[in-house]
Amino acid sequence: KVVLGIETSCDDTAAAVVDDNGHVLGEAIHSQTEVHLKTGGIIPPVAQQLHRENIQRIVQEALCASQVPPSELSAIATTIKPGLALSLGVGLSFSLQLADQLKKPFIPIHHMEAHALTIRLTNNVEFPFLVLLISGGHCLLALVQGVSDFLLLGKSLDIAPGDMLDKVARRLSLIKHPECSTMSGGKAIEHLAKQGNKLCFDLKPPMDRAKNCDFSFTGLQNIVDKIIMQKEKEEGIEMGQILSSAADIAAAVQHTTACHIAKRTHRAILFCQRKGLLSQTNAVLVASGGVASNLYIRKALEMVTNVTQCTLLCPPPRLCTDNGIMIAWNGIERLRAGLGILHNTEGVRYEPKCPLGVDISKEVGKAA
Ligand code: ATP
Ligand code: FE
Repeated sequence: KVVLGIETSCDDTAAAVVDDNGHVLGEAIHSQTEVHLKTGGIIPPVAQQLHRENIQRIVQEALCASQVPPSELSAIATTIKPGLALSLGVGLSFSLQLADQLKKPFIPIHHMEAHALTIRLTNNVEFPFLVLLISGGHCLLALVQGVSDFLLLGKSLDIAPGDMLDKVARRLSLIKHPECSTMSGGKAIEHLAKQGNKLCFDLKPPMDRAKNCDFSFTGLQNIVDKIIMQKEKEEGIEMGQILSSAADIAAAVQHTTACHIAKRTHRAILFCQRKGLLSQTNAVLVASGGVASNLYIRKALEMVTNVTQCTLLCPPPRLCTDNGIMIAWNGIERLRAGLGILHNTEGVRYEPKCPLGVDISKEVGKAA
């Protein structure tokens, strides 16, 4: 079996061809990051236009590299939820047209499900396992019991950690920093944090009293905003210039983010182990999403898995961020499980908002 996967849910136009042995036969990606960095965020119509300009070429490149003739594809899998409406629309209409033209089945993909299952492409991981997805648009903890069988243990009640880090980085004007000008906000914070002292600022971990696995990052962002404003006054510089305390602020934000994420994850593991949903001795925690590539946050997660006798696994960085491989692989997983393979695509719509799995976050809070 061979699947073509197509991803356009946010700001990456990506495609890949993957077989049922997990071999990546071909892949291509066009990142819009540089364009969006200049405007200080994603402008949906701009993202849509860029997807339109690139999708044909990216899919062609992935197919050519794979040397698989389109007639030999088993199916076309495409992200249809959740994501930016205008972006999702480009991938969906392109894919439906292609599926129709090639007379191939279509497999609609949930972007977060694809992130969660990616680890099974690179590692031999059996169900169930726990997954922590932390990126610019998402923040959740879920128990993965099967290809399409998820229990949602916790999620962010406001913004995602990557979004918060991006906002802090923008407020610190790190794009003007000579060492960080080409990095994403989160990566810039990680880079600068190495030169800073996290103890310079005493930031409280968010939601410390809430005994559930939910997350929150807006409060932290607001506190950091205030600190930056105060420091600008103290240092007598204008907004948009680099603070001399920027590295200390980055270190403190990164540390507090890591603590918050690690604590919630610890609670989720204990909950699942107590309920018999996860093994007490050899459970697996998968951490993925752009923020999971942060090594400081990974260290914090390692401490949690050490005390709970779990194994921490992270997909390689290029599979942690948005890509076409994970979409194609999710298509393979669904083909194998016989789930959601469409021969008639009438009525298929994209869904900008779509929760992952069955939400049991209230139960987790009560059990504590
Ligand atoms: P989605 O939420 O749909 O997965 P996304 O584009 O945000 O979309 P990713 O590409 O997985 O997803 O992640 C990008 C985010 O990860 C950005 O917010 C970026 O700042 C953050 N990020 C990237 N590298 C790091 C790092 N080293 N440390 C912290 N955050 C990082
Ligand atoms: Fe993603």
